[in-house]
Amino acid sequence: MKVAVVKETAAGERRVALVPEMIGRLRDAGLDVLVESGAGDGAWLSDGSYADAGAVIVSRDELLSTADLVLMVGRPDEQVLGSLRQGQAILGMLNPLADPELAAALAAKGVTAISLDGLPRTLPKAQAMDVLTSQANVAGYKAALVGAAAFGRFFPMLITAAGTARPAKVLILGTGVAGLQAIGTARRLGAVVSAYDVRPQTKTEVESLGATFIELTSVGPAAGEGGYARALTDEERLAQQAELTAHIARHDVIITTAQVPGRKPPLLITDGTVKAMAPGSVVVDMAAGPLGGNVAGAVPDETVVTENGVTLIGAGNLAATVPGAASAAFARNVSSLLLHMVADGALAIDPSDDIQAGVVITHGGKVIHPTAAALLPDGQAHSAGGTTQ
Ligand code: NAD
Repeated sequence: MKVAVVKETAAGERRVALVPEMIGRLRDAGLDVLVESGAGDGAWLSDGSYADAGAVIVSRDELLSTADLVLMVGRPDEQVLGSLRQGQAILGMLNPLADPELAAALAAKGVTAISLDGLPRTLPKAQAMDVLTSQANVAGYKAALVGAAAFGRFFPMLITAAGTARPAKVLILGTGVAGLQAIGTARRLGAVVSAYDVRPQTKTEVESLGATFIELTSVGPAAGEGGYARALTDEERLAQQAELTAHIARHDVIITTAQVPGRKPPLLITDGTVKAMAPGSVVVDMAAGPLGGNVAGAVPDETVVTENGVTLIGAGNLAATVPGAASAAFARNVSSLLLHMVADGALAIDPSDDIQAGVVITHGGKVIHPTAAALLPDGQAHSAGGTTQ
């Protein structure tokens, strides 16, 4: 089977799905690896480094015409989508629950689509394959650096002949994977860190990183399914926003990471709360995206300075801004998943396997992932004439 790595074309995307270090593992499993020329440029990985590791460097046209499985970080661009044909497979972060039409289009072409974001993350054997965790980890690290860079004072306490600078007070809202890494990074930079999450079970992890866990009296625990939070009721949300205001106003830098799977991100910092913040404060909203974010007024991929001098950073795709580390981790995750799915040098699709049940979205001309299929109008999940093996 020919496994091929395309060059990402999305704006700002510098990651690559496979790094040279992983090629030996895949070749040992009987796979041939093709790499589009320039695919690793954004992560400082030359064509030569891939060739030395045993990959064949090809043009995009050659790759698309000969690949059995196309690897990518995000969703396929229009050119890749247009050239895919029956019997080919793709693997990337396809986000089928937010983009069910893509799943329908791939099924209609008879393409087997494997989406990394469908992985059942709580299975211990899935941990090595978990790109959501590996990329959130990179993004949380970068969020702390972005916050520190935009802040006009020091993070650590500094005692110098020119006087003593007090340490910055940093608040992390949402202490999942990204939030915990943001805490660790801000602590390593010397800030005094507090954190809050609606899942009180994160308190121990927060404290083990040397931060203070804030408990709100107005909102009870809100753990949902699969280790995630549930969405709050309107009443809970308003109480949470009100009680958070006083905590937010006494911090210098706030990093928000709160997400609820399948929902728009919860609004944690209202316009009124931003107005209560001191001039020079910084807010990094890691949840800012097309559906909204955690912070009123934060715009995805933009930095806005409010009338009262608060810098609001809509963080965007932060993992892509640390492309070396993010690509290395992504490639390890992808290789582990591939090795789990390959038998005798070919993809062995088996929806009864617990990992494959989460990641295989389309196969044999159908959207076979039940949650993705349920999002499509009747008939579209089974629209293809194609039959793949
Ligand atoms: P996420 O990106 O979906 O959410 C980030 C955080 O936001 C979560 O901690 C969530 O509780 C919090 N949040 C949601 N709504 C909130 C609100 N209104 N106010 C404050 N906080 C709010 O989550 P994630 O980081 O991808 O993963 C979350 C958790 O899932 C992990 O911490 C872990 O417990 C679990 N998980 C487990 C495994 C595993 O078992 N191997 C793997 C991955 C994740």
